[in-house]
Amino acid sequence: MRLYNTLTRHEEPFAPSDGRTVRMYTCGLTVYARGHIGNFRTFTALDVLRRALEFEGYTVTQVRNYTDVDDRTIAESAKAGRPLREYTQQFVEAFERDAAALGLEPVEYAPRATDHIPAMASMIRALDGNGHTYVSDGSIYFKIATFPDYGRLARLDHAGIKSGARVDSDKYDKDDARDFVLWKAARPGEPSWEPGLPAGRPGWHIECSAMAEEMLGPLPIDIHGGGVDLIFPHHENEIAQAEGAARRPFSRFWVHVEHLMIEIEADEVRGSEKMSKSLGNVYNLEDVAAHGFRPSTLRYLYLNTHYRKQLKFSWSVMAQAEEAVKRLTDFLARVDALPPGEAHAETAGKLEDASKAFAEHIAADLNTAAALGVVFDLVRALNSAIDAGELRADDAAAVRGTFERFDRVLGILSLRCAEDAQPPVPVAEIERLIQERRAARSARNFAEADRIRKDLEARGIVLEDTPAGTRWKRK
Ligand code: AMP
Ligand code: ZN
Repeated sequence: MRLYNTLTRHEEPFAPSDGRTVRMYTCGLTVYARGHIGNFRTFTALDVLRRALEFEGYTVTQVRNYTDVDDRTIAESAKAGRPLREYTQQFVEAFERDAAALGLEPVEYAPRATDHIPAMASMIRALDGNGHTYVSDGSIYFKIATFPDYGRLARLDHAGIKSGARVDSDKYDKDDARDFVLWKAARPGEPSWEPGLPAGRPGWHIECSAMAEEMLGPLPIDIHGGGVDLIFPHHENEIAQAEGAARRPFSRFWVHVEHLMIEIEADEVRGSEKMSKSLGNVYNLEDVAAHGFRPSTLRYLYLNTHYRKQLKFSWSVMAQAEEAVKRLTDFLARVDALPPGEAHAETAGKLEDASKAFAEHIAADLNTAAALGVVFDLVRALNSAIDAGELRADDAAAVRGTFERFDRVLGILSLRCAEDAQPPVPVAEIERLIQERRAARSARNFAEADRIRKDLEARGIVLEDTPAGTRWKRK
């Protein structure tokens, strides 16, 4: 398999260092808000990478963390007047639900940063021992002048690096490359820890370096990934910390996913911008459902663009994606209803050619868009064969087997199947609404009872009143 490595800016052959198990760290969600569909573009692309590696026969050990302490989580939990752990817990849970809804495979480790403070402290102590740190106003900083490789990943121009100047915030621009904070001195009203360091809390960057080494070490790990916005400063700083402490390379491959973009609506400007919470232009899976789409459609949309290209999101491209998914499921329904008869001699060759082309595209830096092209070419060819009476029931198992193998990487059809098996509204919610409707009727509030019935009907659930009580069924 070939993967584009941001470190070298080249596509390179990839195999895990031990030839069997891929040790992969993927930066997870900062749990100060529910993840949006931009975040999930990155998480889904990295899920496809994981599936592709498994498809190649490797075992994958993946860490995908939760950043549950940083500038944003602290600010938002303070605003909400809730303890940090409690505040972030709701978004960890929402992430788990959304990840499952999008068909992301479970990962081996999903650590919360605050459960790994000792590992961060020990990395900071190792950095201190190697002469990479200094203290200012009680906070501990990484001195970038002590790390000659600083800026290699982001290709920073060393003339522009302001060594000696400091930056305290987690996020900042390339132009502001400075000594960055490893451990922030405790401030009144902020959560703090004392893991053998003065009371304080970790900077964002040290969290990932420490958890990656703790869970996937010894260094180097095989793959480190995230969205392109993480290249600088986050991943640059992760490298400086991990390598400064261990005196070994951190990760062999760096994989970065391009952004999901959204159209700018203002008349005077045309174009698109990154979907991001700070710009206030985000949609999440609830919005996707409110527009009548299911997560499998979004998953298809994600995969239909190569992960290193920007993806322009709109509801009309979602509608096109849904049509494409339907074309696939309609075809498979036809395969299930093939007339009896012996397998046709040409079918096996068609399936084999498509399987080979599919695998080649996936192995070429995860070209899911081209792989989907192969899938649809095959659908077209087999639809014509069905029309011509050249595909029979005895061909069905081989055809289904081929599409199931494609889906081990794509994860679209199995997701659609699971969605089809589920009522469009969660059962617990249907039952709660039935209770509410009964209460409304007892109170002779028929307008409210009717509203609940109509609301459920609009969402695909029909209520039937019987002498034994209210029953529900799918429309
Ligand atoms: P955060 O919660 O901000 O740390 O982001 C979680 C992940 O989502 C990171 O890998 C980001 O790079 C990624 N990400 C954030 N915004 C977008 C976007 N609009 N498109 C794709 N990935 C994104
Ligand atoms: Zn990270």
